[in-house]
Amino acid sequence: MSHPFIPGTEYTRADVYRLLDVPTHLQRGNWETGYNRYENNLYIFCNVGVKGRTDHDYDNHWEGDDFVWFAKTGTKLRQPQIQWMLNPTGKIFLFTRSVERGAFTFWGTVIAKNSEDSSPVKITWRVEERFLIAVDIEPVPADRTETTISRIIRDTALAKRIKELHGNRCQICGEALKLSDGTFYSEAHHLQPLGSPHDGPDVEGNILVVCPNHHALCDFGAIHLDIETLRRHPLHEIGPQFVSYHNATIAHRSSR
Ligand SMILES: [Zn+2]
Repeated sequence: MSHPFIPGTEYTRADVYRLLDVPTHLQRGNWETGYNRYENNLYIFCNVGVKGRTDHDYDNHWEGDDFVWFAKTGTKLRQPQIQWMLNPTGKIFLFTRSVERGAFTFWGTVIAKNSEDSSPVKITWRVEERFLIAVDIEPVPADRTETTISRIIRDTALAKRIKELHGNRCQICGEALKLSDGTFYSEAHHLQPLGSPHDGPDVEGNILVVCPNHHALCDFGAIHLDIETLRRHPLHEIGPQFVSYHNATIAHRSSR
């Protein structure tokens, strides 16, 4: 099934109305209270780690690749709408945000992995489409002196494989961050970013394994990349067109 949303991309509800051609009289309402059925699909909009208008303090959170989610207050497992979610005849789209207001990130379509007969009903969603989600930096709230910057990075199976090939070593500097449990940490960068307006593909040629510092420098266009000096692996071919895209479109001219 095709749909207009790109995983890892931010959308406001207004964007969603526009992309789905929702007539004005069918806008707002349930779209603003957690989830809404529209043309036999369900659209979930929820907050993670922040208090929402209607989803109170429910502890929506990620558990690995799964999203643990609470339905509206008072819901019960036997209710038809909840039953539909567990056995849908359409698609279920998951949008979350970790700020109180503003755009939501679309993660993909989801299917219920399991559910609990609690009230509200608790459902664990599995994201059907796996994509690496670009770095998401929260806007700085004006009314706070302390701010949190979160980097939400979710890998595709492809990105995980490529990170393994490189032993989690940065393809720019060769560093591999060792964590306290002895494992190594790296990040996967898409040279041509996945989301709008860049619309890069999730293919191996577009992925670079990087340390967090070089990931930030790439994302912010602070460095140019030279394909000849990047660390290579015989089973991971970097696409020169994606390096060119980074240099031409993402990297700022001043850093040449
Ligand atoms: Zn590095």
